[in-house]
Amino acid sequence: MLPTYNFDKIKFATDRPTLEKAIGLYENGKVTQFREELNGFFATVLGTKPYRVYVDKRHYDQGDCDCYLGQNETLCKHMVAVAIYAVMDGRPLTEDDKKIISAPKCSGRLGELNKIKLAAVKKSITSAMRYIKPYNGPSRIWFAYQNSLSEGCSRLSAIISELPVSEQTAKILVETLLRLDRKLCTGGVDDSDGAVGDFIYETVDLLKDFAKIDSDCVDIFKKLKNKETCFGWEEPLLELIGK
Ligand SMILES: [Zn+2]
Repeated sequence: MLPTYNFDKIKFATDRPTLEKAIGLYENGKVTQFREELNGFFATVLGTKPYRVYVDKRHYDQGDCDCYLGQNETLCKHMVAVAIYAVMDGRPLTEDDKKIISAPKCSGRLGELNKIKLAAVKKSITSAMRYIKPYNGPSRIWFAYQNSLSEGCSRLSAIISELPVSEQTAKILVETLLRLDRKLCTGGVDDSDGAVGDFIYETVDLLKDFAKIDSDCVDIFKKLKNKETCFGWEEPLLELIGK
């Protein structure tokens, strides 16, 4: 049986330093004696010493490792390396796989999306948004909940960083920010770690870059006039109107 997660899940849900080290372990052949059993995968990962690792088939972040972090119930690079082995079946990772995008970055490329692409982008934004959900407790799921918020933001960052620059795509971004704002203000999202807030600020910066490349984008920012947002993130964009 294949794992129910895929490489994207591991990529977007793991913090960057852990993911980078896990990719290093995987690519350097440090995952050895890999074997599949009913509910998960076992392997010996060669680190400072050989670690015995188990990773669940349904949740890549559940399992066991006899390293210090693993013993403290923290997701470690060894577990992530084994999960990568399981989804890749030992095949090499592509450059695209390894491109880790942790914050939105302007593509710097002018252009519009055609109808099919536009629909696909909107759909992928909506599915990434699902990770940014209300917090209903219990408190033991707190960390998993915060991870889900950052996973949503990482997924959004990857989508947004691919967008060409135009009024059309600026509009998508402004709408995305307003949706996130509603989630924060009234949607029950508990962004205590600030992942969503940071993402909003980074996307505002990206929109400022959009306006530098195509000044027509500023027209879209007018949508933000007289909006009550949760922390005034739209102000830098409003300053650009009428300049
Ligand atoms: Zn470990």
